Amino acid sequence: MAPGSYIKIADEYKSFTLDHFCVPKHYEEDLEDIMIPWGLIQDRIERLARDIFQSVKDQPLTAVCILKGGYRFFTDLLDKLTALNRAHGHVSVPITIDFIRLKSYENDASSGEIRIVGGDSLSSIAGRNILVVEDIIDTGRTMIKLLELLAEHKPASVKVASLLVKRRAGQGVTFRPDYCGFEIPDKFVVGYALDYNEYFRDLNHICVINNAGKEKYRQ
Ligand code: 5GP
Repeated sequence: MAPGSYIKIADEYKSFTLDHFCVPKHYEEDLEDIMIPWGLIQDRIERLARDIFQSVKDQPLTAVCILKGGYRFFTDLLDKLTALNRAHGHVSVPITIDFIRLKSYENDASSGEIRIVGGDSLSSIAGRNILVVEDIIDTGRTMIKLLELLAEHKPASVKVASLLVKRRAGQGVTFRPDYCGFEIPDKFVVGYALDYNEYFRDLNHICVINNAGKEKYRQ
């Protein structure tokens, strides 16, 4: 299968109920269901790491983590890439890492404005092969803005890995990353570092928040 093919989670997909897996007690009342269990996330990232490893070959790579939502995907992807580096005696990918912090969401809606609110200076990316590691692409605005910002600093190349892309109602997928774990229905998801007003990052599975959860943690 070619790199870039996604696992598509259909709109009518029957998610798992909370009693199928373990969720923290403090979130039991706040979740609709479990869309992607943690184990499946891990298995998928293992394959993304292999696809990336095979296409990069032995070119140095700078992996840029988009905080905060991308941090778990980033660490798991890097773990799997470095495992491939250890396993393949004849070829390995030298990896450096950078962090950028962006903010675009208020409650469960995009604010329409993207701000860099912290992280490394982008000047260090000049001449480097960049892999942007993001949690989710929804409207695609954040990624397009970020790619414009990165381009100003003259990297040698830029690829994007996003764990999730959302199929927006009436619009479909707005931005297709080079590597993607899952294409998901148009629902607000939390867990595996994806938050709702900073809550749910401490949940392993990717879940759909319910109305009670939205009310409880609304700002
Ligand atoms: P976009 O600019 O593509 O609309 O939004 C990208 C950012 O919005 C993501 O990096 C993420 O922070 C946030 N986002 C979009 N959809 C969701 C979602 O379903 N759940 C969570 N927790 N964040 C989301």
